[in-house]
Parts: sequence; structure tokens; C-alpha cells
Amino acid sequence: MSPVRTELTTTEKLNFSEIPEWVLNVARVLNMKGFQTYLVGGAVRDLLWGEHPSDWDLASDALPEEIGAMFPKTIASGSKYGTMTIMNEGNQLEITTLREDLHYSDGRHPEIVHFGKDICLDLARRDFTINAIAFDLTKRELIDPFGGRRDIRRRLLKAVGDPARRYHEDGLRMFRFYRFLATLDVQAHRQTEQAINAESAIGVSNERIREEFSKLLIGPGVGRALSGLKKSGLLGVFLAELLNEGQHLQKGFQKKSLWQHSMEAAMTINPQLQLRLAALLHDVAKPLTQSIDSDGIHFYNHDQIGSELSRVIMKRLGYPRQLVDRVSTLIRWHMFFINEQTSDAAIRRLIVKVGPQYIPDLLELRRADIVASGRVDYHTWENWQALSGRINDILNAQTTRNPFYPVINGTDLIKHFQLQPGPIIGEVLRYLQETLLDDPALNQKPALLKLAEDYLQARIKT
Ligand code: ATP
Ligand code: MG
Repeated sequence: MSPVRTELTTTEKLNFSEIPEWVLNVARVLNMKGFQTYLVGGAVRDLLWGEHPSDWDLASDALPEEIGAMFPKTIASGSKYGTMTIMNEGNQLEITTLREDLHYSDGRHPEIVHFGKDICLDLARRDFTINAIAFDLTKRELIDPFGGRRDIRRRLLKAVGDPARRYHEDGLRMFRFYRFLATLDVQAHRQTEQAINAESAIGVSNERIREEFSKLLIGPGVGRALSGLKKSGLLGVFLAELLNEGQHLQKGFQKKSLWQHSMEAAMTINPQLQLRLAALLHDVAKPLTQSIDSDGIHFYNHDQIGSELSRVIMKRLGYPRQLVDRVSTLIRWHMFFINEQTSDAAIRRLIVKVGPQYIPDLLELRRADIVASGRVDYHTWENWQALSGRINDILNAQTTRNPFYPVINGTDLIKHFQLQPGPIIGEVLRYLQETLLDDPALNQKPALLKLAEDYLQARIKT
């Protein structure tokens, strides 16, 4: 067996010289007070691969309150017990007190946490061997009791110890497994993947699943991670709606299952969280809305219902409101098709409903939907290009006469007509906006005030 402590090789030395001065300074302060300090987690892994770490994790035998006293600007992060966070110009550094987890009862939180002094015991509680290497910042040595460096070389994602036991202790590790499979260029260790099971996921909070799932979604290996989530049964724990096929889909009226289509759309769309979520959920209401007649299978209103259902799902997973709105709006309008009869006003209405800034997202979702449906014939592309062209023409033409937002606002109306602030102001503004969608040339102050006057007068009469 190779020794646990080893010096850096010459090439590794170069990579480790990348550790920023402010991180080294934190370690120096801890050392001066007599505490051990190690670089741990993803930063060591990334440096060994010659990559740039995104954040820095330190482990020390200093207790959280001692760390707090040494570094006044620390935040005690609630999610990880015993972790203190230091911010430095947008970068963050987490210091976790060395610990051993002794008992797990709820499949997520260790029952007894022992703060300790032994880095090897601290590494033993970590999830994967490539994440269980420490770098002693004082002695400049690597501490690698679980063959992490070898697995770094082999690019192997392997549990520390017996995977089934480790998942049983903390079910989140299974989601982390797929997150790393999606984000890192690694191969799955067979037994580590085979041990993944849905029962061990009971007790893992939706919030923690969401954090890992969101990272997984934007990773280059999203396809294999999503397949793994489905195959292992983990998907059913937090996103069972995507496994629903409904009666007709099950009978194979569509070439692809809902899952297959959604996954392919998510794989092809640009790697941004709102897009990946929209792609994954855009057809989620198909099983609920399917009907069949002599013309074939239909999914009437699946865009509308899917938009609502995706809201429910994303809220359940605790996504922020803005993201929920953005994704569900994209899903709501993903079926907007045009033909020769479609008027400019109809396209302007679409732009207002989606929001001009989110139009590129809608076009990207439409593109991914086409690619994933396998109907990439000339006609579908032509249609996509026509829609894209019409939207762009309208968006480009709007610089002089913006049809989306009237050049007057509520304050102008209040002043000009000596109105009291109230719902009538919003009503007039909406009327003006609607009118502009039909005729953008009216977007000038005098014309709008005249329109508003007529509207208010008609309103008084009724
Ligand atoms: P990233 O580069 O994305 O930050 P990371 O490996 O640093 O990846 P973190 O979530 O920041 O991931 O966790 C830091 C380290 O803490 C991990 O590398 C791992 O050693 C350990 N860790 C985190 N969560 C768990 C867990 N649930 N079970 C065991 N060890 C964990
Ligand atoms: Mg990290």
C-alpha cells in the first residue's frame, strides 16, 4: 500500500502554486494560532487535474467559534454543520472543522458529530475518493488514504468505502454521484453506481436534491447523468411526472417516450439552467392531455397545462420565483407556430407575453424541441427560421417606434388628466400597449394622450 502522506510531484507543484495568496493567508493565520490546516474537496481534485478550482474548501481542527473569532467576517453556513464561510471579492472559502461522523439515523444528518484532530478520519467521511484527498498547506504534502490520486489518474468516480453503506448513511451522495458524472470528465466505478437505490433517497430534502440536480443539468455529461437517474429510480423520487407515459404514449403512438424526448431536448439545448429545465419539462403535461381520434393522437393545451404543472414541480423543488416564472413562460409559448396569415400584431403579442429579453430562450427551446423530436426536415426548419426572422424583424424595427412599452407612463397620465393613482392607470396603460401592438406608429406622446383621453371618456360614459 502506498504511504498516506506524499510530497507533491514536480508537475503537481506547478498546479498547487495556483492557490491564491488570500487562501494561503487564511491558512497562515490558522497555523500561527497552532491549528492544522488542509486544503480539501474539489479544489485539491481540480488542481491535481491541472484545472482551476471554482471555490476553496479548507479543513482545520479549529472549532467553528474559534474560526469566527479569528476571522470576523465569516458566516456560519447553516446547511453544513460546523462550516464557516469567508468571502473574498466574489470568491468564497469554506473552513470546516475536522470531524468524524459516527451515526446516521435519518439518512441525511449524522446523529453524533465529533469534532476531531485526525485528517484521515475526516477524509473517511467524504463521499468519493477523488474528493477525499487533503493537501497539508504547512508541510506541502498530499494526504491520500483512499487511493484518490490513483482514481484521479484513472478518472474514476468511486465511493470511499462500501458504497451501499455510504448511501444509506446519506442519500444525497447518490445525487452527488450523478452530479459529478455530469460535470467532471470521469467514468463511473461499477459497484459505486450499482449500489445506488431509491430507498436510500428517502429523507433527503428537495432543497439539497435541487442543488445537485441544477449543477448536473448544466454539465456536459447531462445525458448520461439523466439516464442514470432514471435507471436507478432516483428520478422517481423528485421528478416522477416525467416517468408518466399515459395510456396512448405507452401504446407507442409516438416514436419516442416522453422521457426520451425530454431528455434529448435537455441534452441539445444550450447549457443554461432555465433552458435545461424548460427543455426537460416542456412536454410534462402530455400524458395528462392526450386524446385520440381518427386523426391520431392529440395533446390539446399541453403547453398551457404544462406551464402550470412545471410551476408546481419547480416550486416543490424550491426554485426561486423568478426562475419559475421564466421557465413556465417559455413552456407556455413553446407551441407558437406561424403561417403566412400570422399578423405582425400577433407576433408582437407573443413578444410581450414572453418578454422581449427572453425571446432568444424561446427560439432556443423551439430549436431543441425540433431536434429532439427527430422531425428535422426542411419544412420544420423553414418554419423555425420564418418565426425567428419575423421576430427579429419586429425586434429590430422597434428602435424608433417601440410597440412594447408606451413612451408615456402612469405619472404622465396622472399629471395630464389630474387623476388619482388607482387601478384605472394600469387599465389605460394596458389599453395603450394593446393598441401599439397593432399600430406601433402611435407611440408618440400626443397620440397616446389622445388615445388615453378617448378611452377615459368612453369609460366615464359606461
Ligand atoms: P465543487 O467543485 O463543485 O465545489 P466539491 O467536491 O468541492 O465540488 P462541495 O459540495 O463543495 O463539492 O463539497 C466539498 C467536499 O465536501 C467534497 O469534495 C466532499 O469531500 C465533501 N462532501 C460534500 N458533501 C458530502 C456528502 N454529502 N457526503 C460526504 N462528503 C461530502
Ligand atoms: Mg467545493
